[in-house]
Amino acid sequence: MSAVPQVPNPAALEADGVGCHSGKDAMLAAAKTAGKSDVLKQYATDYPLPEGAGPHDQPQSMCPAFGSLRVGLRMRRTHTILSGSACCVYGLTFTSHFYGARRSVGYVPFNSESLVTGKLFEDIRDNVYKQADPALYDTIVIINLCVPTASGVPLQLLPSQINGVRIIGIDVPGFGVPTHAEAKDVLAGAMLKVARAEAEAGPVAAPRTGIATKPTITLLGEMFPADPVGIGMLLEPMGLAAGPVVPTREWRELYAALDCAAVAAIHPFYTASVREFVAAGRKIVASAPVGYDGTEAWLQAIGEATNVPQALIDASKNKWLPAIKAALARTPIKGRVTVSGYEGSELLVARLLIESGADVPYVGTACPKTPWSAPDLAWLQARGVHVQYRASLEQDIQAVREFKPDLAIGTTPVVQAAKEAAIPSLYFTNLISARPLMGPMGAGSLAQVINAAIGNRERFNKMREFFGDVGSGDRAGVWEGKPVERPEFRAETKRQVIKMLKKRKAEEMI
Ligand code: SF4
Repeated sequence: MSAVPQVPNPAALEADGVGCHSGKDAMLAAAKTAGKSDVLKQYATDYPLPEGAGPHDQPQSMCPAFGSLRVGLRMRRTHTILSGSACCVYGLTFTSHFYGARRSVGYVPFNSESLVTGKLFEDIRDNVYKQADPALYDTIVIINLCVPTASGVPLQLLPSQINGVRIIGIDVPGFGVPTHAEAKDVLAGAMLKVARAEAEAGPVAAPRTGIATKPTITLLGEMFPADPVGIGMLLEPMGLAAGPVVPTREWRELYAALDCAAVAAIHPFYTASVREFVAAGRKIVASAPVGYDGTEAWLQAIGEATNVPQALIDASKNKWLPAIKAALARTPIKGRVTVSGYEGSELLVARLLIESGADVPYVGTACPKTPWSAPDLAWLQARGVHVQYRASLEQDIQAVREFKPDLAIGTTPVVQAAKEAAIPSLYFTNLISARPLMGPMGAGSLAQVINAAIGNRERFNKMREFFGDVGSGDRAGVWEGKPVERPEFRAETKRQVIKMLKKRKAEEMI
């Protein structure tokens, strides 16, 4: 066995160690000292934050590493191991099982000593050797969370394969990857890179369902299971078929994904994955077939990217566009709706709502602006919609307050804030992403749930009237007696905060 690599930056771990409480800047600085500059630089390019970003420079969402963990856990014959603080691993495993992961998450624990001495890396390597059974796995994924990344645990020194099992080590720190959406891309991109090298080196495994007989379009982004089927129907008159969805559910699907006629960037944040497809010589098509205008433009773009004759592109349009128009007209949505989320499909959902008749003044997405959502941005802006990339929770809630919608679609805290204000609201992830959005199936799918929710307004008003301000603000929670107002405590806290802010300001001026 080779010598144990020392942690490059043990000083970062002295005393209390580097952790969430150290703040993003401290962790970034530690990681750079620890030899992670290149990977962090790549993340800063792939997943940019707004220039001059302040304290809310990062969307508030769950731990980003969940995105990578979820991608690993959903793949057949793949074992996923976390390397990080126990509290982070507890939260991540809890969330993954909450979302229905049906297999175990591996964990290599550490303490300050094993981290500083480099023993953690040795433990990870031992663990990987123990798990690398080709009868069980194609791949083992090891994810460095914040603390091991900040202290430079060198996963890149792991062998690239053991007994034929691929070993893929990635750093997914919360201070380098802004959202869990983009963390999906970190792992998908890393896997595509390895698969591309394998495909270039020689013959690789065929897809489980056999090699496609028609040229295929690879679909980037996790979507409702009926959507790839619907997209396949749209493509059929053009002599094309829907290819695999990336992130894939199996290693060998990666080869089929790379072996496509073009890639549809349905979700626009897969920058590292796009890089691999471009390196493989594939064209990337932006946006998605949502609603009438979206489907028309997307079919044209796909046809042009794959050199399909215009007559066949028109055949698909003639077959599907009237059906989409009819479905939209059959199921109108009346009312004002704000949309916010972190899945990457927010702009697409807004397009569909507007084509269904809704007034959508605001769309907030935690994802960054990329070329792959440019057509959606232009379409929405032409209709006066404010599109906020990298939206913070504060911006999303402010939009609800300002536009006073009939319905707020958003993340959990946005929904909570809207409900407190007696505004009907729907969770993006559970209720909107759980429906088809594409083609004719998507055209009418949102109306029922949205109209039902909008119709609930009167109930909200009644509840608000009944409860008044009971249990709101700092009186929320379970109380054994009637909450007692303590204005003197409030005044004292305010005095201390003002004093602290003044002190900080004075220190800045020195
Ligand atoms: S890994 Fe980082 S971002 Fe995730 S929970 Fe731990 S400290 Fe937070």
